Amino acid sequence: MKTIGLLGGMSWESTVEYYRVVNTTVKEALGGLHSARILMYSVDFAELAKFMADDGWDRIEAVLSCAARTLEEAGADFIVIGTNTMHKMADDIAASIAIPLFHIADATAEEVKEAGLTRLGLLGTRPTMEMDFYREKLKGHGLEVLTPPEDDRAELQRIIFDELCRGIVDEGSKKTAREIIGRLSERGAEGIILGCTELGMLIHPDDTPLPLFDTAVVHARRAALLALEE
Ligand code: GLU
Repeated sequence: MKTIGLLGGMSWESTVEYYRVVNTTVKEALGGLHSARILMYSVDFAELAKFMADDGWDRIEAVLSCAARTLEEAGADFIVIGTNTMHKMADDIAASIAIPLFHIADATAEEVKEAGLTRLGLLGTRPTMEMDFYREKLKGHGLEVLTPPEDDRAELQRIIFDELCRGIVDEGSKKTAREIIGRLSERGAEGIILGCTELGMLIHPDDTPLPLFDTAVVHARRAALLALEE
């Protein structure tokens, strides 16, 4: 089994889910007392969130590339970044290490394609919904991406940073998220990508008739399967 290098803490609420899913997947595959080989570098998210608010992406890239190198030196076979947003710097982080980086949008796109869908609604942070790095990656897999309008994007950003990343799951926000998904459905979305690793705390399969793709679960499960490949 390969050793997964997990860049976590963004936020730690979702890193807990990665740890659970990776170990569950290995246990299901190998049985008995088996569990995953994981090295984790968990950052102080307040520091990075402040850089992000100030548009200091280069400073975030420096922190995450350094953390990725630390994981590589410690023996990780490949790197997983446990957040969609920070994949804005995925190419630079990948260039700073000699081991592969397993991209969250590649994992998600494979899952969507296996489900036979092409037109997806994307929910996430403002950078994930508004910048090119994530949508273009999905489009490169032949997927069509629908994003919510400005008011809904602002609301999702607030829910993610003021609530979910602080461990708060609010019923009013759940209702808001369901309405946002409903509007994407009316625009023709065949499924919804929960393109923020905390959104699975808020939105569950019984909240919508559309198929949900929870990027934290998909990324963690596929990372574990990658670790198990011969
Ligand atoms: N975990 C979130 C994501 O998947 C947001 C936190 C972050 O900015 O990294 O995008």
